[in-house]
Amino acid sequence: MKLMKHTRIASIALAMAAVGSLATAQSEGRYKQDVKPVPASASAMKPIQKSATSVDLVLPVQGLTEENVSEVKGSLEKLSVNLYECSGCKSEFAKPGDCPACKKELTDSKQMLFSSVTTAADNGTIALASKPGMQVKLSEIERTLATHAVRIDRDKMTIPGKATLVVSGATTADQAKSIQSALDEAKLFQRAHAQAEENRTLIHVNASTTAPERAKVDRALTKAGPSFKITDVIWNDWTA
Ligand SMILES: [Zn+2]
Repeated sequence: MKLMKHTRIASIALAMAAVGSLATAQSEGRYKQDVKPVPASASAMKPIQKSATSVDLVLPVQGLTEENVSEVKGSLEKLSVNLYECSGCKSEFAKPGDCPACKKELTDSKQMLFSSVTTAADNGTIALASKPGMQVKLSEIERTLATHAVRIDRDKMTIPGKATLVVSGATTADQAKSIQSALDEAKLFQRAHAQAEENRTLIHVNASTTAPERAKVDRALTKAGPSFKITDVIWNDWTA
């Protein structure tokens, strides 16, 4: 009898603990329930890591003409991102919700990506300077250019500064290791670190004063694995 009573109390306590943790989970993240499991680092509400650095790029392009040059410039100048700021601690987040520290609702603010866009149709280049700390994705620039039938000349393009290369086709630690050795051997960057994720590999790179040509980086990747391809280059990566 005494034993039964103890068991019953224990199971009630267990049930209460379960209810308690469910309530906590619900109040902590209202978007958590209907999304599929993602690594904890990606799902947690974390402020973005905004550096004070501006991204300066000079991109060699094809298809830039006297006719489309001003429209191309206009489209790039209009690129913006929505960030969510806490009025209390001034932290910025990539997603809406409440500040995990101050519990205040975040306010939406539209921020422009570039402080200057210089287009030169005669020598086929576009020079971009980001606002300090803004994350710049090559894929987004390419999408914008594509709407004007302009594309980046990947044979002439370089990868300057500190960036994250997103590589598809490589998903295991062994594949990341072979990318790492191919890059170490090619000595293209001052520093390069390859890390496999669930469906891609990220390479955090730091270019020397002379930025390496993308074509050479592509070749090193192909050497590591014929299906390994750069799908994006991210400067001022907010998650790095
Ligand atoms: Zn806050």
